[in-house]
Amino acid sequence: MKILVLNSGSSTVKFRVYNVEEGDALREIASGVVERIGEGVSTVEYKSVRGELKYTVKVKDHGEALQHILKVLCDAEKGVISNPDEITGVGHRVVHGGEMRESSIIDERVEKVIEEYARMAPLHNPANLLGIRAAKSVFPHAIHVAVFDTAFHSTIPEEAYLYAIPYKFYVKYRIRRYGFHGISHSYVARKAAEILGEPLEKLKLITCHLGSGASVAAIMYGRSVETSMGLTPLEGLIMGTRCGDIDPSIFYFLMKWEKLSEDEVYDLLNKKSGLLGLSEVSNDVRTLLQASSEGDKRAERALNAFAHRVKKYIGAYMAVMNGADAIVLTAGIGERSPTMREKILRGLENLGIILDAKKNERPEDYGGVISSDDSKVKILVIPTNEELAISEETLRLIRGRASKDNSY
Ligand code: AMP
Repeated sequence: MKILVLNSGSSTVKFRVYNVEEGDALREIASGVVERIGEGVSTVEYKSVRGELKYTVKVKDHGEALQHILKVLCDAEKGVISNPDEITGVGHRVVHGGEMRESSIIDERVEKVIEEYARMAPLHNPANLLGIRAAKSVFPHAIHVAVFDTAFHSTIPEEAYLYAIPYKFYVKYRIRRYGFHGISHSYVARKAAEILGEPLEKLKLITCHLGSGASVAAIMYGRSVETSMGLTPLEGLIMGTRCGDIDPSIFYFLMKWEKLSEDEVYDLLNKKSGLLGLSEVSNDVRTLLQASSEGDKRAERALNAFAHRVKKYIGAYMAVMNGADAIVLTAGIGERSPTMREKILRGLENLGIILDAKKNERPEDYGGVISSDDSKVKILVIPTNEELAISEETLRLIRGRASKDNSY
């Protein structure tokens, strides 16, 4: 059995194929991306256990992108399938699932939810839906599963998810905090439990997904109880280009003083703020670290503000859970930047969080554990793997459906 995982953006579709092996272990056998869809010249890149392919071609829309994915997957020499029906399940990453509590097999109702929540995730949900519809026509016999970034956080209690605006707006528009990156937070939480050798149900974890998008989650006994992103992925940490937490009055004053429309301010807060806006250098932490090491004060100020915000959330979530067993760092910055990890975790000794400078330089040599032996709270660096988590979810639902079908 083979499972295809799709991550459809507005102009890119990323894909991976997993083979289901003995004991339901999933082995990645192919991956690739179609980029610059609808932009004139697109690129198709593909890599499998049998070789690589790369070409440029005009790809008009997501439908054509999926045709190219099928073409490379079926390539006589380097392909991994010989016809579309060899793909049993397709797992789709969907950013906003509203109040959906779990991954779901995609039917009309699920498509409706994704469409409905496009108003809150206009950059993501419409593209996710285009990918789903295109994939359904290219793989008509596969079981299509939506895995939501929001679902893992559906356990957050009311006192944490409500905004203090008139309650009627929650009722009318479902304005509340949802949280995102749930696929990643839940994946690294499970891995953390494995490393710590304790059941997840007994652990209090603070997971920090620090990539170009970034969020922190408090995971208590396996359930998300708080997270830093809110109604949309704009709230919380400072990100590559997103502002994170700000005083909402800023929206009002920018419109008034800069004579900007609401769309322009929304765009500014999503695409021109964060590390990019603060540094006026780059949204990329690697570039900022380089600039800062050469004495660029603007880069340094942006990185310090980023680290300060993460530190603040760690403290807040220690309070929410009355302590923590471990802090987990993941995604580009969390996995690969000792300097940023040090900036974030320095000075937390009184909370029982003690970083080991040597281990921090090479976590892979220490099984991912970078706290000192006497640190009450363990610090772990765990590479995330959202595609693998999506394929596992897809397989779980396929298995669930098969056992239901057998019971009739
Ligand atoms: P992601 O969205 O998970 O791909 O993470 C992207 C972010 O990780 C960008 O800000 C990158 O600059 C940052 N990043 C990736 N590799 C490194 C590295 N070796 N050192 C510092 N930052 C890195």
